[in-house]
Amino acid sequence: MSFQGDSIPAKKTFKVVLDPGHGGKDWGTRGKYTKEKDIVLKVSLMVGKYLEELLDDVEVIYTRKDDSYSHPKIDANIANEAEADLFISIHANAMPKGNEHVRGTETFVMGLKNTGRNFEVAKRENSVILLEENYEEVYEGFDPTKPVSNIMFSIMQEAFQENSILLAQNIEDQFAKRAGRKSLGVKQSSLWVLWNTAMPSVLVELGYLTNPKEEKELNDPKVQDYLASAIFRAIRDYKEFLDSTK
Ligand SMILES: [Zn+2]
Repeated sequence: MSFQGDSIPAKKTFKVVLDPGHGGKDWGTRGKYTKEKDIVLKVSLMVGKYLEELLDDVEVIYTRKDDSYSHPKIDANIANEAEADLFISIHANAMPKGNEHVRGTETFVMGLKNTGRNFEVAKRENSVILLEENYEEVYEGFDPTKPVSNIMFSIMQEAFQENSILLAQNIEDQFAKRAGRKSLGVKQSSLWVLWNTAMPSVLVELGYLTNPKEEKELNDPKVQDYLASAIFRAIRDYKEFLDSTK
């Protein structure tokens, strides 16, 4: 019997961690009738399905696949232990009362320009950390209420910054040009889960649940599919670019 080299299944080499934000007791933000944790799970599962079906050298790792509680520290550890090539955290956004008109997508990378609105997003997305009494010990001095914590960020994520921005830009371009979304662009913020991952990492905000029109759209399976396929194409293009520079 001869050895059939081409019968060996393709090795899954490129690991993508998909992190649907929140889960279980942590609902994330809320619209009038929508919980962030539900929308982001649906879209994340669709992204994973596209990756698994269409790219045979990609392995998808989820931080959760159902409504279980998903903690930022565990999420980051899952990605680090898997030695993943990419970490993508998927969320939905909110604005305080009086700002219901604000809508659009944003993709965050870890960064120092942590002022104004970006810091508000950081406080909200990091807020689950504050529920723990000993968070300063658990999070090695990271205080989600203080922008000054940023000083420490650059050490771990800086090496991956260029690739994180490349992927983030791909995602926002896809949202704007192919998924028909309003893109608010690539932003920087002190997001704990990004700070703690040792690989290119982004946090995607799919839209504002506090905007009535966008809340309705984010509940539409067709819009969810547009968003998911946009993220899929952004990952595919990012990977193709990396492969072409090898
Ligand atoms: Zn969130």
